[in-house]
Amino acid sequence: MGSGVLSKSQYVRGLQCPKSLWLYRNRKDLIPPSPPGLQRNFDQGHAIGRLARARFPGGVDITADYLHQQHALDSTAAAVNSGARTIYEAAALFDKTLVRSDILNRNADGTWDLVEVKGATDVNDVYLQDLAIQAYILEGAGFRLRRAILMHVNNQYVRRGPINPKSFFTLVNLTVKLKPFIKAVPAEVRRLHRVLSSSASPKIDIGPHCSSPYECSFQEHCWRRLPDYSIYDLVRIREGKIIQLKGRGVLKIAEVPEDFPLSRAQEIQVLCEKTKKAHIEKVAIGELLDTLVYPLHYLDFETLNPAIPPYDGLRPFQQMPFQASIHVQETEGAPIKHVEYLGDGRSDPRPGLVECLASSISGRGTVIAYNAGFEGQCLRSLAGAYPKRAKALLSAANRLWDLGDPFRKSFYVDPAFKGSWSIKAVLPVLVPSMTYKNLPVGNGEQAQLAFLALMSGNLPAAERKKTVRNLKIYCGQDTFAMVKILAKLQKIRGSC
Ligand code: SF4
Repeated sequence: MGSGVLSKSQYVRGLQCPKSLWLYRNRKDLIPPSPPGLQRNFDQGHAIGRLARARFPGGVDITADYLHQQHALDSTAAAVNSGARTIYEAAALFDKTLVRSDILNRNADGTWDLVEVKGATDVNDVYLQDLAIQAYILEGAGFRLRRAILMHVNNQYVRRGPINPKSFFTLVNLTVKLKPFIKAVPAEVRRLHRVLSSSASPKIDIGPHCSSPYECSFQEHCWRRLPDYSIYDLVRIREGKIIQLKGRGVLKIAEVPEDFPLSRAQEIQVLCEKTKKAHIEKVAIGELLDTLVYPLHYLDFETLNPAIPPYDGLRPFQQMPFQASIHVQETEGAPIKHVEYLGDGRSDPRPGLVECLASSISGRGTVIAYNAGFEGQCLRSLAGAYPKRAKALLSAANRLWDLGDPFRKSFYVDPAFKGSWSIKAVLPVLVPSMTYKNLPVGNGEQAQLAFLALMSGNLPAAERKKTVRNLKIYCGQDTFAMVKILAKLQKIRGSC
């Protein structure tokens, strides 16, 4: 296939940013190596694709890959001519643009339904763009389309036994809604072909389009000239303000002019950076600490939210806690006990986890979590799934206290936080002796990948043992870090 041909994914990339399209076609070497979590996304996408085919079974699969597009076009033509009712990955070429469609389904009158499969739970504009380019090319290539359908994951589906593809997906007929989008396609195709034929990359500045609707793979390249701590790190900064600051030649936080209108949190952040001093509101922190009631329970979950629920009772993308760490201190100054639970990866981790929570979190005292909304959501969803333990779980959820609040509310801001209030940013500043660096499992995503490896059942015994140990170290560190951060805040309050 000629190098001047645009593909569907390149068209969507070009709509997001023409520079990204140009770089993709000319400077793929600038794309950094894939992050470890990407393979999981691919695996999940393939699993959804398999289920989607089970929803429209018996199709002819056009297996030729992107290096053999002429073969794919020939195989598609052969499938059409042989009367195939359903075609997977059908190829069509028109207007120097080639698309591959997830599912084409032939109707009795010879027209076709185009079905685009998405591992998402609703419709958004970028999916309409995706369907519009396919509809335009398919029609141009001679397919008479009757309907354009988006098949996305039904987030109300609850697993009971084997996954039922009919109820797992929701089909949305977008034929009418798509019309204005299809009308815009020819001009966009021409514009993007002009980009492709140019010898130089289009001049496009960085901005919100670098991560929306998709994370652009050239961020490392385009954002490299930004200072380490830039105006983009200002908390909840709006695009309009970024444009104004850049218009005044300001990129570094330390250079933000005094007269520039900022939110309270942003003002504090700028002041900290300019003075290189922490901002600490001892009275406000003290008032938060006064609401703590012993025994103190420090709680942290690790969770997975797979698109395809692995166990009964779960919905698609529902958070499934598989691990918990709890540090408990009965009274002020008392020794701190540690309790933990980790699913074995062979069966649903939630029943064991629920028992651990119910027996470790007493009916009184504060439950401390960092970004407690998430732990609250997990506790409430476990309460719904395990009614016998609902009372204890809901009681714990109602006693949650957010250790992130002093930082999120800008009562404590250090220039070294660099605009973040995450525990990973706060801990090294407040407790320099503790770090997540060099931990084999050192963040939530790595914990998920490690647990998925346990679930796969493919780990040799020694590797399995090591993975279990690494997961326990990581989750245990999260709650012990909370113990230390709270102690530091108490010390600061004590120095009032
Ligand atoms: S990082 Fe942003 S500006 Fe650069 S190519 Fe991607 S979307 Fe375009």
